[in-house]
Amino acid sequence: MISEEEARARILDTIKPLPERAVPLAQALGCFAAQGYFARLPLHVFDNSAMDGYAVVARACKKRARLRVTGEQPAGRDRQLRVSPGEAVRIFTGAPMPAGADAIVMQEDVTRDGDEIVINVDVDLGDFVRRRGCDLAEGQRILAKGERLRAATIALLASQGIGDLTVGGEVNAAIISTGDELVKAGEKLEPGEIYESNSALLNALLQRCGVAVNLVEHCRDERESLREAIKRGMKNHILIISGGVSVGEHDLVKDALRELGAEVDIWRVAIKPGKPFLFGRMQQSKPSPQSSQRSARSRSREADTKARSKGAVASSGCCFIFGLPGNPVSAFVTFLQFVRPAILKMMGAINLDLPQLPARLTVDLTNEGDRAHYIRGKLEHGKFSPVGRQESHALFGLSQSNAFLRLGLGQSFRADEIVDVQIWD
Ligand code: AMP
Ligand code: MG
Repeated sequence: MISEEEARARILDTIKPLPERAVPLAQALGCFAAQGYFARLPLHVFDNSAMDGYAVVARACKKRARLRVTGEQPAGRDRQLRVSPGEAVRIFTGAPMPAGADAIVMQEDVTRDGDEIVINVDVDLGDFVRRRGCDLAEGQRILAKGERLRAATIALLASQGIGDLTVGGEVNAAIISTGDELVKAGEKLEPGEIYESNSALLNALLQRCGVAVNLVEHCRDERESLREAIKRGMKNHILIISGGVSVGEHDLVKDALRELGAEVDIWRVAIKPGKPFLFGRMQQSKPSPQSSQRSARSRSREADTKARSKGAVASSGCCFIFGLPGNPVSAFVTFLQFVRPAILKMMGAINLDLPQLPARLTVDLTNEGDRAHYIRGKLEHGKFSPVGRQESHALFGLSQSNAFLRLGLGQSFRADEIVDVQIWD
């Protein structure tokens, strides 16, 4: 058994980011920038009005001043108007400031009288003018390499006229759930059987990371069918196998992987829940000399098939295999602590950690065991309280939780202490 820190470090040392790719901005949500982006335009792009009103010269605009309206500037093409003292230009939100104007009077603050207006307020220099570059300077960084594309960042890039951008690669995945006792939704439960829930859990977690799930299979605890399922799953960047990684006679995953030629780098980690966690990899075989002598026609047919099987790994690629314990909470914890950071690294992210927040603990907690313990609980109004049974099968408690508190070996916390919790919702 190795420590959780060592397991994570070994996984992240093994995994490398996928090659970057160009995507249209509209498909970039949740991706990670493969390079830094810098403003090529200031924001605002030009001085403009923040209100519907009148563009004026502030110093010639005392309360009760009467001004002649000499033109109109809507948002859109600059009409190159000019304002002199004693004049005003009718203007609308987002319209370019006429030359000479240095303030806007809101339309609510004037009385219109034919071609003239009377100002009903004191006007100060710069009132309701949005200055060129006041929000963002040309050359300022707008997105760092490895940063996640969020809705607002996408809007900012769009405001720069950027239509495509370079992001980290897309990860694709297969999920295999194992166990003779497992039954699919819609089928009848016989005595001793349970409904299979881990593939739904893992599918949801993978989707939240932005992973394309290409294959979801259930497999009985049977050597041959497990080997066949694994072979199919290994055509993806990552393969997640749930169950069958523990020490019982029906836990066949480790042997099946080895029989297929996969390397098992990690098995059993000092984490609670989740001890039987496994990490391995399978180098996809390089094309053999024989295959390179095949006719150009058969090669091009193969390339065509590959191109159609969306996102399948290149034949020279590597599939990373995560064996998660079958107990649902163990699968959840090990996914978030080991699989998620690995996926994020493949996708080109810089920050691989779950977000953390400080919280006031509501109870005393001590870890007397020999593994780091992830307590599931609810973070609400700045307070963290453990929820439900802290056992690896307790799916209901997990479903009511939104945060982890990690208790290291021998670590104790007192009620009312401020602790850092990891959040996932
Ligand atoms: P295993 O890791 O295969 O020994 O399974 C440990 C526990 O998790 C057993 O109680 C299984 O019935 C349960 N389990 C395993 N796989 C699943 C699954 N896909 N969905 C729900 N429960 C599971
Ligand atoms: Mg099992």
